Amino acid sequence: MNDKGMDLRFWGVRGGIPTPGAEYTRYGGNTSCLSLTTDQGDLLILDAGTGIRRLGNLLLLKHPDGGIDATILFSHLHWDHIQGIPFFKPLFDKRNRFTLMGQDSRDVAFKDSLQVQQSSNFFPVDLNYMSAEKLFRSLAEEELKIGNLTIRSRRLNHPGGCLGYRIEYAGNSIVYATDHEHVDTGADPVIVDLARDADLLIFDCNYTPEEYEEGRQGWGHSTWAHAITNAREANVGRLVLFHHDQDHSDEQMDRIVADAGQQCPSCVAACEDMVIRLRPERPPMVDRSLCVVGITR
Ligand SMILES: [Zn+2]
Ligand SMILES: [Zn+2]
Repeated sequence: MNDKGMDLRFWGVRGGIPTPGAEYTRYGGNTSCLSLTTDQGDLLILDAGTGIRRLGNLLLLKHPDGGIDATILFSHLHWDHIQGIPFFKPLFDKRNRFTLMGQDSRDVAFKDSLQVQQSSNFFPVDLNYMSAEKLFRSLAEEELKIGNLTIRSRRLNHPGGCLGYRIEYAGNSIVYATDHEHVDTGADPVIVDLARDADLLIFDCNYTPEEYEEGRQGWGHSTWAHAITNAREANVGRLVLFHHDQDHSDEQMDRIVADAGQQCPSCVAACEDMVIRLRPERPPMVDRSLCVVGITR
């Protein structure tokens, strides 16, 4: 098999709050976290929700003597995107090196917000106690290189702000656009521009269209229907429904997938441990072999 390209693994797919419990086992209960690895050894982590804990444990198994060098790219600093950081064990080993990137809020630097999460009122262990080498970089709308990856960031529509990212490598492109509320029923120019001809669009599908209409306007999230509108307009290869509402059980998620599938047969709902493999000149391959319990689509 040709290994050239990048692999994306979903470690947490929930929005809001983790959802333990039997009714959430198939799609998973951890909050947002993905890892992206390239055949050249790049490791990019997207968000640090509670899913990052298991990623950390796997990294320790693979690198018992340290030497992990990775970047954690934050969409924004709401709890469901940062709460895994204090439990990410590779940060406790001084032989590892992490670059943490995210947006400043209005009056607080990105690094300071992460530090507040681990101040003694909220958590027993200070961020500075985590001895890995840590580099902090504040991001705005910009283009940057991270290792062999080319990345473009755009501001999304979300209370407190959020950044969406387009990530390109070896002719493939992924767009990570979570925590975004549409402002109109039509396609969103910001998302369409960011996701134009991308192989993969991972998009905020927190609500069903009915839930959104029933009073969730202004809460900063979108629907699967809007995701499909954007994916079509942007000519995206494959749409991934992401940031599942904390109250959507597996059964409800199956219904959402069925409803969305009627309009967009190729779309797929993110679930924990799903891997998507991107290779040049080939459509994204969805691999669920690591998922504990299989999902029918
Ligand atoms: Zn969120
Ligand atoms: Zn948010």
